[in-house]
Amino acid sequence: TASIRSEGSGRVSLSGSGSTDSSGPGRDNSVDLPSHDDRWPRQNSLSMKEWDIPYDELKLYEVIGAGRFGTVYRGSWHGAVAVKVLHVHALNDHCAPLDTFKHEVATFRKTRHENLVLFMGACMKPPRLAIVTSLCKGMTLYTHIHLRKDKFTANKSVLVAQQISQGMGYLHARGIIHKDLKTKNIFLENGKVVITDFGLFSVTKLCFGNNARGDSLGIPSGWLCYLAPELVRALRPHASLHLPFSKQTDVYAFGTVWYELLCGEYPFKGQPAEAIIWQVGKGAKQSLANMQASRDIKDILMLCWSYRESERPDFSHLLSTLEKLPRKRLARSPSHPVHLSRSADS
Ligand code: ADP
Ligand code: MG
Repeated sequence: TASIRSEGSGRVSLSGSGSTDSSGPGRDNSVDLPSHDDRWPRQNSLSMKEWDIPYDELKLYEVIGAGRFGTVYRGSWHGAVAVKVLHVHALNDHCAPLDTFKHEVATFRKTRHENLVLFMGACMKPPRLAIVTSLCKGMTLYTHIHLRKDKFTANKSVLVAQQISQGMGYLHARGIIHKDLKTKNIFLENGKVVITDFGLFSVTKLCFGNNARGDSLGIPSGWLCYLAPELVRALRPHASLHLPFSKQTDVYAFGTVWYELLCGEYPFKGQPAEAIIWQVGKGAKQSLANMQASRDIKDILMLCWSYRESERPDFSHLLSTLEKLPRKRLARSPSHPVHLSRSADS
């Protein structure tokens, strides 16, 4: 657990100055760490038990996907669920998995928002560690954009981005940093955005990062372009655990999602990791010269991708900026429906 705690405090001191960041994780994220257990020991252990799902009660059906840290199954537990089963053979003394896992479960269970996946519980008895959430219908933004090559109009992109900002604003208000915001973790269900995998980065990286497929830096493909300059500069081979994630690094990642929605591809497309690291690390951004979009839309991108984290907007600011965009454009075509058409999800 020491590494996790130091990650937390390291991040707070990095973001500095006692801003909302420092109160957030301390209050919201750390209640189940041993060092804080003496505050309300009874309530915590009780409320942790409430979320404990006996592994035997779960029905696991087919594998939906294999992620970095385990296998995701379609399952059943009082209805359709998604079950993320951690690869238990990878758990060992070096990664103090259970405390990290419980810590992240504690983060998860405090989230209730329309645009966030519903956390239902977890199996917390080793060697059976699993996270149970509602099963997302529809497809991820990644599938829409990169596999199906669906085109998102500016209006649709704005509506999606607004919902992402709403969900992310909620997480940040609760002191939770997503750490892995990407189009693969954003589902679209009949036009409704559902964000998954918030706050699970540590347990995934802690136990499995060393085995992750990727290049020599251990960088999974499609991950780099979400990393803010301060993260890129902190990259070390096989040491992604201690990266200085912050609310601002989430905003940078949102900028990349916004770019994918608008352009249908990743920034720095086709470039090798070394070239991306070099450019982002010294403050270069993907050029927007060939992008067909209004000034306002490009400004959002540039602000989110600001080299200095203090210059990136927060999600409530982003939301109000985004809310001003579609009305302007829709005014010119009042017949266009405001909600997303179903064609984008089915
Ligand atoms: P990644 O996010 O990098 O794709 P994950 O381990 O999070 O890796 O997910 C593996 C697969 O399971 C992905 O295809 C993802 O879309 C799917 N998946 C994850 N969570 C859910 C969920 N709650 N509902 C439906 N599918 C899910
Ligand atoms: Mg995921």
